[in-house]
This record gives sequence, structure tokens and C-alpha cells, in this order.
Amino acid sequence: MMPKPDQRQDEENLVPVSALQHYLFCPRQCALIHIEQQWAENGATVEGRLLHERVDSGVPDRKRGVRTLRTLPIRSFALGIYGKADAVELHGTGSTLIPYPVEYKRGSPKPHHADEVQLCAQALCLEEMFGCAVSEGALFYDRPHRRTTVQFDQDLRDLTQKTAQKVQDMLAAGKTPQPVWNKGCKHCSLEAICQPRRLEKPLCVEKWFLENLED
Ligand code: SF4
Repeated sequence: MMPKPDQRQDEENLVPVSALQHYLFCPRQCALIHIEQQWAENGATVEGRLLHERVDSGVPDRKRGVRTLRTLPIRSFALGIYGKADAVELHGTGSTLIPYPVEYKRGSPKPHHADEVQLCAQALCLEEMFGCAVSEGALFYDRPHRRTTVQFDQDLRDLTQKTAQKVQDMLAAGKTPQPVWNKGCKHCSLEAICQPRRLEKPLCVEKWFLENLED
């Protein structure tokens, strides 16, 4: 359920939409980036950055009669989030134009829902900003080079709202969770900073002494 208007937050307390995606990939990654301001690039992040640089010209365009707004600033006080939408197409005619968010992603569709939640967060921002229902959007993956349509159903809206709340709670607490090694770690650009295998379990004092005092 959406928060009531009296739960609106100050602009300074809004969290980035991108943090929701990071949180669903790994809460520790979200905290390292958004609490500790850590960042590192790997092949995937470089590819993603280059893809967005190509897309984010910020210039509105019109193709096949559909006007598209690029790099549109968005925010939702109800969810406490802000960010920029890669592309928002305006579907319909005259006074019945409906925003249709399109987010560009590197790679192919993923089994987790982070990309869908990021897109749904954009839709909820657009609904609040323009006072209209946004029921559908699309993710454009570069492999394969095509769109996947996303319906903003109640389950996805609930997951998006819960994730926004969890991110806000974590960032307000300012506490980075301990690492838990998982199969996503090998795709994580922060693995060298995070050190999940070394920090996952507390060091055994006896083992440390034996290893370090043997020399
Ligand atoms: S290396 Fe693994 S545990 Fe650490 S931030 Fe990345 S995904 Fe999370």
C-alpha cells in the first residue's frame, strides 16, 4: 500500500532510485555505494556507463509520432525517491498523453527483479508528478537488442514500495551489512573492496596466531 500524504518526506531525505536496484542485487553493495561512497568499475559497469552515455543526450525527440523526453528528472515524495529516467515516451494524443518509461540496460533480462523495480519506481514517480496512471513501461536490453514490456501490477508496486522503505531505513541507520558471499559476487565490481570471502566469517584467533607466528 502506498504511504499516506502525511508521510511525505523532505527533499533532502530522498534516496536515489538506483539504490533500490543496488539493494535488490545485494544490500551490502547498496550500503558500500550509498553510505560509504565506494565505487569501482568492472567490464559490466563500463559497458553500462557507455550505453547510458549514448542514450542520455537529454534532447527530446520524436519518432513514429511518439515524443520522447530524455534524462528526465523524477521524484516521488510518497516513496522518498528521486532520480532520472533514461527515456519517457508520451503515448496518446492531445490532453490524454500518458508517460511510458523506457530504461536501457546492458546484457540480457535477469532472473532477479531489480531492473523491473527500478522501472516501476520511475513509473510511481511519474504518476505522482503528473497525476495520471502509468500501467506499463519497457526495459530495452542490448542483448538481445529489443524491448521487454513490464506491467506495473500490484505485486511489483508492493515490492518497489517495500524496497524503497528498506533502502531508506538502511541509509538512515548508516550501517553497512556484513558480506554474505553469493553467486552475484563474481559479477560485482566492488568485490575487491567488499572482500566477501575474507570478511564473511570472523577471523579465528588461534588460526591467525598459528599462521602468522610460524615464520
Ligand atoms: S562482493 Fe558480494 S557481498 Fe560484496 S557487495 Fe558485492 S555482491 Fe555484495
